[in-house]
Amino acid sequence: MIQAFDYGEVRFFRMARSVFGRAIYWTGVYAVDGLLVDSGPPNLAREVQQLCHELTVRQCVTTHHHEDHSGNHRLLRERLGITPMAHPRAIEHIARPERHPQLYRRMVWGVPLPVASKVVGEWLETPKFRFKVIPTPGHAEDHISLYEPQRGWLFTGDLYLAPKLRYLRADEDIYAMLDSLRRVTALEPDLVFCQHRGRVEDGTAMLRRKLDFLVQLGERIHDLHAKGLDHDEIACALPGNDLLWRTWTAGHFSKRHFVSAFLRPGVAP
Ligand SMILES: [Zn+2]
Ligand SMILES: [Zn+2]
Repeated sequence: MIQAFDYGEVRFFRMARSVFGRAIYWTGVYAVDGLLVDSGPPNLAREVQQLCHELTVRQCVTTHHHEDHSGNHRLLRERLGITPMAHPRAIEHIARPERHPQLYRRMVWGVPLPVASKVVGEWLETPKFRFKVIPTPGHAEDHISLYEPQRGWLFTGDLYLAPKLRYLRADEDIYAMLDSLRRVTALEPDLVFCQHRGRVEDGTAMLRRKLDFLVQLGERIHDLHAKGLDHDEIACALPGNDLLWRTWTAGHFSKRHFVSAFLRPGVAP
């Protein structure tokens, strides 16, 4: 299922696999001046192809390699003649996607087919706009954000998601994420576009809230660690309940990953 949101020059298409008419997990793509930001999950290929025809998409860029963001690159290249752009590290992942991702990922998004992409430059131009490509690792090593200085737009991929995270993915780098959040917050964007949430009201303030939340969470984890608690005890003491997500993702997302990420050896708090 796809739902369209019109933000003027920017349009957001929220999409999800549905079961009995209900969305399982929303993700999305943006269309702006012929540029498609991300290509959506592979199990929505038919809908995405239809959308690309209606929108006369001429270019595509991916914020990071995860399959809900780069899952239709092969379709774009083979059926529409568009080679999507991505960070060099994302190109490697997209050319060799994981063959056996976790069951929840296969159920929600499907498995993408390998495809070649091309390297995105420092700037990305459309007929009307010029986007600065900002490396923002943390959620993924190959994550980028797009900033349009004239309009004050910031496309944040999966850097924002929510002001308070309750669990972390096993492969996320929390210190890189904090650094990325600091750099994009300093731009004070007028409008923030999240790939899962759509346009974020008070975007700069919300990015700052997420940054502050994570800094405080890190301090709490280091305090509890200094008191002698082990990783499991620290995870139990953190706010929120991750049981549902931890179970559903077979441990790929959990509070405990916050603890190991913040206490990673060799990284100063
Ligand atoms: Zn992601
Ligand atoms: Zn995502």
